Amino acid sequence: MANLRMQVLLVYLGATALACRHSTHEKADRTAATNGSVSVDASPPATQPSVVTPSSPRSPATLSDSSSLCNEQAPQDFLVNAHFNGRPLANAGALREWKDAVARSIRYRTEQYGYYSGFGSYAWNKKPLHSQMRTVKFFGLPVRLHERVIPALRCVETALRSDCTQFPYQPRALSGRRENNTYLDGDVSNHVYGIAIDIDPLQNPCCNCIEPWKSSPRCQGKKTDLERMDMPACWISVFERFGFYWLGHDALKDTMHFEFLGDPEQVAQGDAGVSR
Ligand SMILES: [Zn+2]
Repeated sequence: MANLRMQVLLVYLGATALACRHSTHEKADRTAATNGSVSVDASPPATQPSVVTPSSPRSPATLSDSSSLCNEQAPQDFLVNAHFNGRPLANAGALREWKDAVARSIRYRTEQYGYYSGFGSYAWNKKPLHSQMRTVKFFGLPVRLHERVIPALRCVETALRSDCTQFPYQPRALSGRRENNTYLDGDVSNHVYGIAIDIDPLQNPCCNCIEPWKSSPRCQGKKTDLERMDMPACWISVFERFGFYWLGHDALKDTMHFEFLGDPEQVAQGDAGVSR
C-alpha cells in the first residue's frame, strides 16, 4: 500500500464540499485549492494484508507484555489545527495562517522525532529519523513506528484489551512508518515520522478519499462515521485517551488512521517510556 501511488485531479467544489485535507491516503495541493483545483495523491488500499516485515532478526516486542503507568492526554490542539481539514483558503491571510500552522507543526515534529530531508532544519534535531524506528507487535501484527510513540501504543493495547472486551476486534492489516512523503503541499505525513498507524484499510475505509474507498459499500447511504467501518467505537475512545487523533473526525473520514499528536514526554511513566 505504501509503495503504490496514484494521482487524480479533482475539481474544487468548495471548501466544505470537497473536504480535502491531507492524510496517509490523500494529499491535497492546498495552493492549487485557492486557484480552483485540488491535486490529490493517494495510495490505494492493500488487496492483501499489508503487515510490515520486521527488519530485525529478533522477534518484535509484544506491546501488551509490558505493564506501564500510562498517562492519559489529549492530542495537542496546534498539531490538530495544522490539518487542512477542508479549511477555506480564499484569501492570502487564511493561506498564510495555515502555512504558519504547518510550519510550526513541522518544527515540533522535527524536534521531537527527527529531521525529514527538505522539511524544516537539520539543526533542530540531528538524530536520524530512520534510526529511531522500531518494529513492534500490536494485537499480534508487526508494525514499524517511531520508538517514542511505541509506549503510547502499548498503553492503547493494554487499555483496549481491558476496556473493550464487549466489542471484540482483531486487526488483520497494519501500516505504520513510510519512508516517502505523500503530500504535495509542503506538509509531511505523520507516517513519515512513524507516528501514524492505519488499521485494516479495507474494513475501515476513507470515504472521502479516492477510489476504491469511495465506492466501498461501507461508504454508501446515510450512515454515521462509526457505521462506515468495522472497528468498534470503543477503539476510537481508547486511542483518543492516549494522545492519538483519529482522522475519522476529519473531513476525509479516514477511519483507518490514528496519529499520535500528544506530547511524547508525557506518554508513560517508569519503564514504558522511551526517551531520546
Ligand atoms: Zn494513515
